[in-house]
Amino acid sequence: MVERTKVDVLVVGSGPAGSTAARYAAEGGAEVMMIERRPEVGVPVRCGEFMPATDEIKDTFPNLTDAESLFDIPDKLRCRDVDGIVLVNPKGKETVLEYDGYTTDRDRFDQYLADRAVEEGAKLVTNCLFKDTRDNVAFTNQGEIEYKVLIGADGPGSRVAQSLGLDRNRNPYPAVTAQVNGDFDSKMYMYFGGIAPGAYGWIIPKDGRANVGVGFSPKFASGSLSSFFDKFAQQRGLEVDYKLEGKYVPSEGPIARTVSGNGMVVGDAAGHVFSVNGGGIPLALIGGRVCGQVAAANISSSAPLTDYESGWRHIMEKPLKIGANSKKLADTFAFRTEWSTTFCMNLLGKRRMNNLIRCRRIFP
Ligand SMILES: Cc1cc2nc3c(=O)[nH]c(=O)nc-3n(C[C@H](O)[C@H](O)[C@H](O)COP(=O)(O)OP(=O)(O)OC[C@H]3O[C@@H](n4cnc5c(N)ncnc54)[C@H](O)[C@@H]3O)c2cc1C
Repeated sequence: MVERTKVDVLVVGSGPAGSTAARYAAEGGAEVMMIERRPEVGVPVRCGEFMPATDEIKDTFPNLTDAESLFDIPDKLRCRDVDGIVLVNPKGKETVLEYDGYTTDRDRFDQYLADRAVEEGAKLVTNCLFKDTRDNVAFTNQGEIEYKVLIGADGPGSRVAQSLGLDRNRNPYPAVTAQVNGDFDSKMYMYFGGIAPGAYGWIIPKDGRANVGVGFSPKFASGSLSSFFDKFAQQRGLEVDYKLEGKYVPSEGPIARTVSGNGMVVGDAAGHVFSVNGGGIPLALIGGRVCGQVAAANISSSAPLTDYESGWRHIMEKPLKIGANSKKLADTFAFRTEWSTTFCMNLLGKRRMNNLIRCRRIFP
């Protein structure tokens, strides 16, 4: 029970963005509370569970410093190394790209990040739903929390962003995921076309299992997400092991502003997601660290919160904008029909598709 509490920094959401922000704010000396609406951090898993290798992240974000300490993830959280991405066009033609990463168990991964925040001194309160805020007081189902700085790390449909008068993500698309048993090769497969209109279906290898999922854009097809998933699983001959879980994926890049008064939003809430593939875990950590450090500096020496806006933009804005523009091009020219998807993938060829996946410009 929270009842009426006073904290320096209130973080809403204990996903990767919230836990990272809480950890660095606490490390900087602030008194931090992180609230989570779910009873258990990281549960249920709604993710493909793929993490790029640190070298890949550094390659995408050349302005990122000290990536090693931020992405210092223990071996026990790595289920399987991944050494490539295979893009499969609607006709079944495969383009193999070199790409290093690993799969994790998102529940254990998120719990590890939350534990690190708690180790630094942040207080975690579960079953605590943020409802609204007024005059530096957050209203939750467990009582009122007075704060100096508010951090919204509450995912794609952020209530904090809405309460702060910031934009919410436009056109997020739904995606679902499940686990399947079996032996899979060490590459991540992305399937495009009518099987997942406007997005893709995936198979990502884990240890004796794989994470399988589908995203689709309601702009390009009607039907339920579970029916797209069932079709995909049937087509690939997959026997689904666990229950389907899903949520929305921001698709249009960062929102216009991520700071308002003494509030900031980070991670999915800020649109910090690769529009071209829906990946957001590395970005949640990168943005979370900047956000937490700025919150602590604000408490200790009145540093302006706008340092967060300029900080994350310096590191992430360019690749995120390039990715968002590429997704727009794909929506306009590729995702209309199976034929146009095949045509565009053939036209782009391996080199440009490699650039696309890495959020680099595809045309000079
Ligand atoms: C199906 C799917 C597959 C994906 N696969 C990948 C992948 O393989 N690799 C990758 O990098 N990214 C992937 N992503 C994206 C990735 O999951 C997100 O980018 C990442 O989780 C963002 O972290 P976050 O902390 O911003 O938000 P979240 O992880 O969504 O965490 C937000 C937290 O806030 C809590 N919360 C929400 N509202 C409130 C409230 N009002 N009060 C209190 N708590 C609240 C939620 O319960 C949640 O715990 C995938 C997304 C989906 C949907």
